[in-house]
Formats: sequence, structure tokens, C-alpha cells
Amino acid sequence: MNTMFGSHVFNDAVMHERLPKETYKALKRTIELGESLDKNVANVVANAMKDWAIEHGATHYTHWFQPMTGKTAEKHDSFLSLTDDGRAIMEFSGKELSKGESDASSFPSGGLRVTFEARGYTAWDCTSPAFLKEDKVGVTLCIPTAFCSYTSEALDKKTPLLRSMQAINKQALRILRLFGNTTATQVTSMAGPEQEYFLVDKKFYQQRKDLMFTGRTLFGVPAPKGQEMEDHYYGSIKERIAAFMKELDVELWKLGVSAKTKHNEVAPGQHEIAPIYTSVNIATDHNQLIMEMCQKIALRHDLVCLLHEKPFAGVNGSGKHNNWSISTNEGTNLLNPGKTPHENTQFLMFLTAVIAGVDDYAPLLRLAASSPGNDYRLGSSEAPPAIISIFLGDQLTDIIEQIEEGHLTDSKQRTKLEVGVVTLPSFLRDTTDRNRTSPMAFTGNKFEFRMVPSSVSIAKANIMLNTIVAEKLSIYADLLEGAENFNEEVAKLLQNEIKQHKGIIFNGDGYSDEWIVEAERRGLPNIKTTVDAISNYNRPEYIEMFEKHKVFRKSEIISRQEILFEEYEKVVNIEALTMIQMAKKEIIPAVIEYTTILANAINSVKLACKTADTSTQEELLERVTKLLAEVSKKLVELEKAQQEAKEEDTFEKKAFAFRNNVTKAMSELRKPCDCLETIVAEKYWPMPTYVDLLYRV
Ligand code: ADP
Ligand code: MG
Repeated sequence: MNTMFGSHVFNDAVMHERLPKETYKALKRTIELGESLDKNVANVVANAMKDWAIEHGATHYTHWFQPMTGKTAEKHDSFLSLTDDGRAIMEFSGKELSKGESDASSFPSGGLRVTFEARGYTAWDCTSPAFLKEDKVGVTLCIPTAFCSYTSEALDKKTPLLRSMQAINKQALRILRLFGNTTATQVTSMAGPEQEYFLVDKKFYQQRKDLMFTGRTLFGVPAPKGQEMEDHYYGSIKERIAAFMKELDVELWKLGVSAKTKHNEVAPGQHEIAPIYTSVNIATDHNQLIMEMCQKIALRHDLVCLLHEKPFAGVNGSGKHNNWSISTNEGTNLLNPGKTPHENTQFLMFLTAVIAGVDDYAPLLRLAASSPGNDYRLGSSEAPPAIISIFLGDQLTDIIEQIEEGHLTDSKQRTKLEVGVVTLPSFLRDTTDRNRTSPMAFTGNKFEFRMVPSSVSIAKANIMLNTIVAEKLSIYADLLEGAENFNEEVAKLLQNEIKQHKGIIFNGDGYSDEWIVEAERRGLPNIKTTVDAISNYNRPEYIEMFEKHKVFRKSEIISRQEILFEEYEKVVNIEALTMIQMAKKEIIPAVIEYTTILANAINSVKLACKTADTSTQEELLERVTKLLAEVSKKLVELEKAQQEAKEEDTFEKKAFAFRNNVTKAMSELRKPCDCLETIVAEKYWPMPTYVDLLYRV
């Protein structure tokens, strides 16, 4: 494994070995200190990268980027160049490495770019290492890049993420200097995302249009057995799945993705993979690679990986836990409380910045947690509620209360855990238990943001976390830089902040109904759906904050909001059309066939024996035909709702119409269809069922 890990990555070790000393140093200065990159350095790096890639079998390179589709995109070019006398040589210049130009008109831009102004640029992000992608097509050198328009607006997820990293770096360094740290030169936010997914058999998948077109089942009755026995969570892994996971690990390790834990999740057919945390930029790139590789490798095992947030009704859906912290280049985790957090004022300041930032900007985090699919999860007792709150645990809550009272004197200490068996080791319990129901939980030395949708990039969640914390830190630094008595001012600041923002702290059961009432009493926003979340994006105070920290320009926010509305409308439209087609062409014909069989059965039994009791058949026929009529009626209603929503004139209005009317009509149509599934004989049902999908793997 030692030699395999990172074997496909142009990483630090490879650069150290292959680059001239001066070039290596210059590149490191760019990576670590953010200095701009010299053209000559780029040329030398490009050449070394090309030689290394060709030695590993590469023929092509691509600028690998993350447009606002949430997927990754690549445009392949070969290294091939022709000399004047017609010979082929392999070439790759610093310019080709650093900058690409392509037609950006087919990527979503939310009006930032009309089609005749189609120029888009990709720019090398040297802070995320280049890697080799290997598949049946061959080996390709992938260069992580940012993607922007001719007028330098960001058209991707990486650019604002990098900008938000710069923002938190700048503000956190100001705070560190105030606490006397003169040596740290960079502060980086770190993320370790846990990715959940489902695996289903490919042959069943291919017989379900809903899975193929929308990634989730639009019809379907839960199997008799769901997750109630809690036997799948951490259960032993089936051999077929284990073989998939093993191959996935190997392929990810080659790419330098430190896939570490893997286990079965709560629902049948559900699994999780988590890498070791790294900078949010690389973590985001790696999470995209994880999603891509999960899907690619599943197919090699005749499986299909579902990344959708709610593929199945009745069992848990999937999410992503975005573990987040901030670290200095000297290796200090600024969210590490240490043994006596009450004495660790610097930690308390960073902690307070997170608390205050989350409280003031909860709707932005809620936005980062939204996707059409997540609307079916959040707030339904399997995932955090749609209300943002922070879990701190016993020790820190106690300290927060002391700060509020203005007497910061002690930290609750860990106690011994006694299991009552002398041969078992005794150890200290953590200062706090876990709380699975909290959307934003402090877990020892990091925050775990648990609302991120399983299918979307983690970029937005980290952009929001970085920016809102940078904003609070900047306000604190402004206040404290001129302070006459630093300690006194800090104490006062923390006390004020805690007083103002303690309402966001909640350690109880986030799934309970009482919390919804209590949260409302506290004035915490309860933003129920994706379209509501999107509506908040362009609030003037948010635009001001993003512009202040140079994370987004106003035009970028407006365009992103537009793209999100459009995306929502498109996703639900495809779902509605898929449902309509499945109901019309599969369910209704199958049920008609079944009713005919029942009718014929009744007639032939009667014919054979006049006195025979056919009440069972007749009752069934009656129920089935009644439900069938209901299906037809609901189908018409859905078609009408879909057409009306489509006719709205802006993406925003369309999105609201789809949310208000179409999703409702969809769930109305689903009801009689699902009812029919429970009574129509299995062999007449036109598609694989939840039993096939969740258990026949
Ligand atoms: P859980 O107990 O929530 O299932 P896991 O152990 O599966 O957690 O995953 C925890 C994730 O948090 C891993 O990706 C891990 O690398 C990451 N992590 C650990 N420490 C930090 C940190 N300081 N900052 C960010 N992420 C971290
Ligand atoms: Mg977790």
C-alpha cells in the first residue's frame, strides 16, 4: 500500500524529486504562501509534469474543473505537437498548464454570460495536486483548475472556495497576531467529508426509469423489513460489496485520496466512505473524485451507486457530514480546546466566532444544505431538522455559561468509565456524549456540519463556513487591534457575543417536535425547502459580507441564485415527466392487464360452477379498478400542474410553482400507485420492487 498510495499523483515528493531546486522552492512559495507564479517556473513544472505523466502512460491532459452543474468537467487535449518537418513530439508548455480557454456557453452561468460571449478560462490551481486518471480509454493527466468568464466572474465552485480560504486565512492571522503569535504564516480550513451512498444491482436499476433519470424511486412500497432491526448499521459487509469497496479504496489511494473508513450505514443497501481530512480545497476535489469513482467502480461490479439524498421512501436517505476545522501551518488546530478550555482564550474566541457566525448567517448554511433531494430528508427524523442550531456538549456549554456570567473559572473534567469487568481496560470518557440529531455539532476539535446533501459538492458548505467565520473574526480583530487593555476587552467581547448568540446553542433532541416550537420561540429560522433557502441568497447583508471578503461579487450571487432556481425547476420537471411516463406506459397498462385476468378468472370460475364463491376475486377487481381510476385522475392533475409550472416566466416563479404544485401532485399520484403495488400480483407488477433493489444485491 505504501507504494500504491499517491502513485498517480504529482505530489510533493514527486515535485521534490523531479524539479530543479529553485523551481521547487518557487512553486512551494506559491502553494504555501500564495505568491504569484512566475512564467518560467510554470514552464519547468509543465515539462516535468508531462515527462512524469508520459512515463505513467498518459497521452492526454485535461484542465479538470467544477462548473456549477456540481459535477466535474474535462476537455482533453493530447500532448502531441508537430515539428516544422512534420515529426510528432510530445509537448506541454507552462502556458498550457496554467491557462486554458474554452467555450463556456453550455455550462450554467445564470445570465453571467450570454451565448455569444462564450469565452471561459480555466486557471491552474497549484494548491491541489495534478493526478492521473486511468481507465479503459487510457491515462489522462488531470490538472485541477478554476473556471471563470471573460469578465473574470467565477463560473465554478472552486474559485469562490479559494477566495473564502484567503478570507479566513487573513482574518484568522489577525487574531493570532493579537494573541502574540508572530510565526504562523498561514491558516487553512480543513474538511473531512463522510460520504453516504446506496448500491443496487445494475439489472434492477436498468428496469427503473425513475432511478435512471432521477436517481431516486418515484414509486415504490417499502419492503416488509426496513431498518428497524438495526442490523445493517456497521453490520458485516457482503462479499460482493466488500469487493467493490476494496477496489474503490485501491483506486482512490492511487489518486492520493486517503479513503480511511468504510462501513454499512443505517438503511439496507446503504454504505459510507470517509477520507482523512485535508484542506477544504483538496477535500472538495477529493470528494468529487470519491463520488465519481464510487459510480465508476460500482459499474465494474454490475452495481449502480446512488448518490441521491432520498432514493427510497421509508428508509433513511444519504447525506454528507462535513467535518470542519481551522489549522495553522505550524500544525495547531484552532478549534482544539485543550484540556482546560476555560484558560484557552484564543480557542474561545474562534469558538465564539463560529457560534456568532452560524447564528447570524444560518440561512446561508441552510442554503448550502439544500438540494431538491434533501427536501425529502431534512426534518424527517433521519437527518437534522431544517433549523440550524449548534451542539456544544456539556463541557463547552458550561464554559459558555460561565462566560455569559462573567466568571470564567473552570472546565469540567473527564471522568473514568467503569464497565464493571476487571479484565477490560478502564479509560476516560469523553467530556461529552455524541448528539446525532444536531445539524452542527462540536465533536472534540472540529465542527461537524451534518446537513450537506449527499449528491452535491461540499464547496458551498465550506465557502459559507469560511466566510461567516472570517466575517466574525474581522469584526473582533477590528475591535481588539486598538484595545488599550486587551484581556479586559476580550472578556467583554466574548461575554457580549455569547449573550447575543447563545440562542443558537441547543444540546437536546433535534428530531423532536418540542424543538421546533422552542426554536421558533428563540427566533431561529426554520427554512423548510430548497426554494425558500435559495430565495435568501441575495439579501443585501449577505451580498455586503461576500463583497467585503471578496468571496462573491453581487453579480455572481445573483447568477448563482438564478442557476439554483433553474436547477430546482429542471430536476422536479424531469421527475414529473418520468412519473407521468411510468404511470402511463408501465403502471396503467400492467394494472389493466391484471384486471382483465381477474375479470376472466371470475367469468371462467362462474362458468365452471355457478354457485362458486368468487367474492375474493370480485372484491379485488373492484379495489384494483377503483385505484386505477384514481391513478388516471391524479395523472391528469400532475400533467396540468407540470404544464402550468412550465409556463411561468422566470426561473424563480417556475421553481416556486414546481415546489408548491408539482411536488404535491407527484406525491398524490404516487399514493394510488403504491397502493396498487401492494395488491397487484407480483408477476404483473411492471418494475423491480424495493425488495429487489434493497435486498437482492
Ligand atoms: P463519525 O464518527 O462522525 O462517523 P468518522 O470517523 O467516520 O466520523 O469521520 C470523521 C471525519 O472527520 C474523517 O473524515 C476525519 O478525517 C475528519 N476529521 C477528524 N479530525 C478533523 C479535523 N480536525 N478537522 C476536520 N476534519 C476532521
Ligand atoms: Mg459523522
